[in-house]
Amino acid sequence: MACNPDRVYLSSPHMGGMEETFVAEAFATNWIAPLGPHVDTFEREFCERVGAAHAAALSSGTAALHLALQLVGVGAGEEVMVSDLTFSASVNPILYLGARPVFIDSERTSWNMDPALLAEALEARARRSRLPAAVIVVHLYGQTADLDPILDACRRYDVPLIEDAAEALGATYRGRSSGTLGKAGIYSFNGNKIITTSGGGMLVSEDEALIAHARKLATQARDPAPHYEHSEIGYNYRLSNVLAGIGRGQLRVLEERVAARRRNFDFYREALGDLSGLEFMPEAPWGRHTRWLTCLTIDPQAFGADRERIRLALEAQNIEARPVWKPMHLQPVFAAFESVGGEVAADLFARGLCLPSGSNLAPADLARVVEVVRGVAAGADTTGLVPAGRG
Ligand SMILES: *Cc1c(COP(=O)(O)O)cnc(C)c1O
Repeated sequence: MACNPDRVYLSSPHMGGMEETFVAEAFATNWIAPLGPHVDTFEREFCERVGAAHAAALSSGTAALHLALQLVGVGAGEEVMVSDLTFSASVNPILYLGARPVFIDSERTSWNMDPALLAEALEARARRSRLPAAVIVVHLYGQTADLDPILDACRRYDVPLIEDAAEALGATYRGRSSGTLGKAGIYSFNGNKIITTSGGGMLVSEDEALIAHARKLATQARDPAPHYEHSEIGYNYRLSNVLAGIGRGQLRVLEERVAARRRNFDFYREALGDLSGLEFMPEAPWGRHTRWLTCLTIDPQAFGADRERIRLALEAQNIEARPVWKPMHLQPVFAAFESVGGEVAADLFARGLCLPSGSNLAPADLARVVEVVRGVAAGADTTGLVPAGRG
């Protein structure tokens, strides 16, 4: 079996030049406790970068979504409509609040929430006077959903829209930053995202009071008093000053990271685009796709092998690739909840694959991926199974 000492990861952290300087500054000034000047500056710089009015730096994207839902008024027993094709972290906070998710299928232009299905579902609920308390639209893999018709539908029924832009920092919608068009937007700085603080998140909104309230809830909901006074339940959700220093460094290289990931995509498309049965995730006409991950679908008949066969062939060569997200309506933990459609998301899951996409991949890494995929297409034995008598 061929020896590949270095694993090629799907998406690994990629530091720029300034992170250590900012972290050292936090140490030198002993701002190790959560909160401190890097947190405030990171929030300000982030707002400038995405064009948001106000931001709260938090311990994770999941925490940001939890606070966003609570602050737009989602309560126990209510419904929240959410993209079906996503990571479970888009949905779990709905359950933290005792509310119920309703899953909305994808369209094929962007793989994101289908605006027509959302509008129909809202209309049907409005007729029964059972409107959801919020809608969460997810911007998958670095691409914004079609926000204009989604915002129209939400406005028509006065339902707040929360954007889960955890995967879409750097993406745009008609010239505006993904995450800044709804009532609130959330981002993630987890280790595999386009920029990282090792772990962290951001909540943005035009509503200054909402962000002020988020900051309070994120620091154990202390009321203004010299002693500890509490009139509501809080959380420990703030980003630490040390990690905010990493975030400030990462933000400075965001544009380079987007450019590098788009270059990965262009390389793959150039090198694999001629293979029949293989189709890349489209870039919708309404904005910039960051290509956080390069995703494609495989038609097993036309390609001659299915998604799993390609993934296993890559794994055998120590290359990490992942199936597209398994839709929420197919997850055992959410089986009891309602879904609207689901066939598109199920098909994208069945046939979809995410290729290694890190901004720090070397040309040789990308070439290895291409070689394995082309080998599977040609029917070569690349699964790592060594025929008897060899190896
Ligand atoms: C990563 C991710 C989250 C959660 O962010 P964390 O910072 O890991 O909590 C939420 N939604 C989506 C779509 C994600 O990809």
